[in-house]
Amino acid sequence: VRVRVVPLAGESYAPGHVTVQASDVTESRRLARVRRDFVANVSHELKTPVGALQLLSETLLDAVDDPDATRRFVERIRHESDRLGRLVGDLLDLSRLQGAEPLPALNPVAVDRIVAEVIDRSRTTAAAKKITIRYAGTRGQTVYGSERQLVTAVANLVENAIAYSPDETTVTIRVGRVGDIMEIAVTDQGVGISEKDQGRIFERFYRADHARSRETGGTGLGLAIVKHIAVNHGGRAGVESAPGRGSTFTFQLPARPPEAALPLPPGIAI
Ligand code: ADP
Repeated sequence: VRVRVVPLAGESYAPGHVTVQASDVTESRRLARVRRDFVANVSHELKTPVGALQLLSETLLDAVDDPDATRRFVERIRHESDRLGRLVGDLLDLSRLQGAEPLPALNPVAVDRIVAEVIDRSRTTAAAKKITIRYAGTRGQTVYGSERQLVTAVANLVENAIAYSPDETTVTIRVGRVGDIMEIAVTDQGVGISEKDQGRIFERFYRADHARSRETGGTGLGLAIVKHIAVNHGGRAGVESAPGRGSTFTFQLPARPPEAALPLPPGIAI
């Protein structure tokens, strides 16, 4: 607790005439530390592809007379710049979701449209690993929010399910409604996540398996984005998993229109 002794308005520090202000600085210290850690993490994550790009372009300068080597280096430069582009894109998404932009307008969005768009986007990555994407559960449901953000959230879950699963497995997107909650669950038959890691994977840049995440080209921000989209829509995101037996990620949203979810007290006219 920080205590400040301040004079009353227009008075001097005469004994007996002061105000004592007390404020809890624990939370602001914690937030300052979180911010510092985040900047350090971002710098570290940017350094890797930027360093690789510098090294590759220097080496390329020495190899310009060799067409095969040139092609190899240019391909690696493209790979690293794609990674850099994804990282910057995810950082921008995250900063928008964290309040730099207003909350999404709560428009009615058909869940079937969200799922169809997600399946369409994941088609190529799923096909490359011969993974089947299945759509199960109740059709014709509606949620309220930003279609673009909701597609991003479910697409992140499906992309992870594909990335952390072996070839020739199945990823299931299941839609269900329990009372006023709409749940979109994404189940895979992949590597699974230990209990210890389950509590941390929604943090920015936390990775359960660094080597694998690097291999899949992930930015370490996908689930942090999912969590923020859920929270901004009045919902939440969660996970159930067992190592070696696959994972189920759940994305839950209020299933009622916003005016029904937040009834005005009677007698107030607007
Ligand atoms: P990344 O870009 O590393 O995939 P995410 O924020 O999307 O970052 O996920 C954080 C971590 O959670 C991943 O590095 C991975 O260890 C773990 N993870 C996410 N989804 C799955 C999944 N479906 N199966 C197993 N592990 C997963």
